[in-house]
Amino acid sequence: MEKLVSLCKRRGIIFQSSEIYGGLSSCWDYGPLGAEMKRNLKEAWWQKVVRERKDIVGLDASILMHSKVWEASGHVESFSDPMVDCRACRRRFRADDVEGDRCPVCGGELTDARQFNLMFKTFMGPVEEDSAVVYLRPETAQGIFVNFANVQQSMRMKLPFGIAQIGKAFRNEITPGNFIFRTREFEQMEIEYFVVPGTDEEWHRRWIEERLQWYIDLGLREDRLRLRPHGEDELAHYAKSCVDIEYLFPFGWAELEGIANRTDYDLRRHSEYSGRRLDYYDEESGKRVVPYVIEPSGGVDRALLAFLVDAYDEEEVRGEVRVVLRLHPKLAPITVGVFPLVRRDGMPEKALEIEEILRPHFNVFYDEKDSIGRRYRRMDEVGTPYGVTVDSQTMQDDTVTVRDRDSMEQERVHIRELADYIREQISSWRRPEHITEEVWV
Ligand code: ATP
Repeated sequence: MEKLVSLCKRRGIIFQSSEIYGGLSSCWDYGPLGAEMKRNLKEAWWQKVVRERKDIVGLDASILMHSKVWEASGHVESFSDPMVDCRACRRRFRADDVEGDRCPVCGGELTDARQFNLMFKTFMGPVEEDSAVVYLRPETAQGIFVNFANVQQSMRMKLPFGIAQIGKAFRNEITPGNFIFRTREFEQMEIEYFVVPGTDEEWHRRWIEERLQWYIDLGLREDRLRLRPHGEDELAHYAKSCVDIEYLFPFGWAELEGIANRTDYDLRRHSEYSGRRLDYYDEESGKRVVPYVIEPSGGVDRALLAFLVDAYDEEEVRGEVRVVLRLHPKLAPITVGVFPLVRRDGMPEKALEIEEILRPHFNVFYDEKDSIGRRYRRMDEVGTPYGVTVDSQTMQDDTVTVRDRDSMEQERVHIRELADYIREQISSWRRPEHITEEVWV
């Protein structure tokens, strides 16, 4: 983890937020390469669950919502953890993390347990009065539920159908940590998939499979993924059942995504609190039903961490350690590096021409500094899957070498065919078998 955190900082992937002021705990900024990677990740999700399907449409709801939403959803009442404070050192702990009535750090006296709501509260409008209290959403899901009727009617959706959304969520977590794994501001990718009651369990199973496969297709190692069904005692107040997709992070197995059967809880509650009808008229049977909901809910940042951790590899090449991120080409922040072998004989000009040819199609990066070996290493470190090099032969026959990040093998390709060749490589990419198998825990 330490190696990864320092690589992320050094190579412009992730920085500590407000670093010049000493940093703000648990907040992180995505640098130029991190922003590209995060975008690619969200794009891959959206492509899979919205664009490639007829039964799911997208939504982009606002972060601030009517405070009644959070009463109806149950968050005002039960989105909390019992906490105790130390009267001496003022540290705060989850009540179930401490034994006895003394502070585990300084031995001071602890207060009685108090409910600590995880929602961030703020005030809308210039006067701080109760009626203007609003919350930063702790999940994107509620924006979908309150728009159920709008979406269903405007898009004439028929059951089963889904609404997908990617957006920021905020939780005043008591114990944030593990880099971007648990933060107070994060991004979620959520689908609410509405089904006819009675078909919910079948759809739940399908979504578990579908979502697990998505991570595998994007390159996560299967033996570092597992499914964990929730026990009765840990189910959220709204859920009939829930299965987590867990990943083996360097700090142990932890949740990547939860897939819950939320029943008709949310639509019923919002209907009750708003007085609006939130159900579905089935033309065939002539009956109204309140759909059940299957919710695959994942974190963008958490997934990004898993992809980075999984991709990180070190291997010895000619007596030196090569650090390489074996990211899926679809996720890699830069897709193609373009290099003149040397800085003379017209090679830089030719390479710049190639950069311009490729730029409309891929995220490209031109580099002419240092030896070619060092330039390749710099690209390996940030996971750039392909390196295009202009050499003396290029000057004669317009062919270049294309170096593969994983195998380090090179192939000669004509400039005319370069874009197609790279596209073909991206779509046939497979995680290399020979990769060093380290087991974390
Ligand atoms: P955890 O048990 O880890 O707190 P959760 O079960 O509360 O997570 P959900 O409410 O199911 O999480 O949220 C869905 C997804 O949102 C999680 O699987 C995770 O990927 C992401 N997520 C939730 N909380 C955070 C957070 N504090 N930081 C980053 N991602 C988060």
